[in-house]
Parts: sequence; C-alpha cells; structure tokens
Amino acid sequence: MRYTEMPPPFGEGMVKPDQLSVARGQLGPKCAGCDLPLIFAESLVIDDRYYCLECYEKITGVSSSTEPKEVGGLRMD
Ligand SMILES: [Zn+2]
Repeated sequence: MRYTEMPPPFGEGMVKPDQLSVARGQLGPKCAGCDLPLIFAESLVIDDRYYCLECYEKITGVSSSTEPKEVGGLRMD
C-alpha cells in the first residue's frame, strides 16, 4: 500500500540525526545495515530505517514477510 491516511511517525525525509550523514556532499541517511553513507534518492526504506541496495536485497531476499516501502522515484523493475 503506497498511500496511508495517517501520517507516518516520522515525516518523509525526516530521520533521526544519528542516521544522517553528509559524507556524500548532501544530507542523507546512513545504511542501517552497513553504515554506508547514502543519498535519499538511492536509499531504500524498511521499517523506517534506510538501507543501501545491497543490504536491502539481502534483507528482502531472506524475509518476504517484511513489506518494503518504495522511496520516491525508484523503480525496481
Ligand atoms: Zn548497507
């Protein structure tokens, strides 16, 4: 489900400060799996945490019960 009636606990684009990095020249999240600095455009969200594609594939590959949320503009097909 892409749109919900209730706003998420953290607004889109807002993450906890310790999950943020400016290592890529712009403010972005850090991968919750491997600490890789990301930009929002390439980060993938699972349960309000940001992951790089590699970790995302690892997580979604082993656990199909987790429903990943798409980050705007990213198409997986
Ligand atoms: Zn990662």
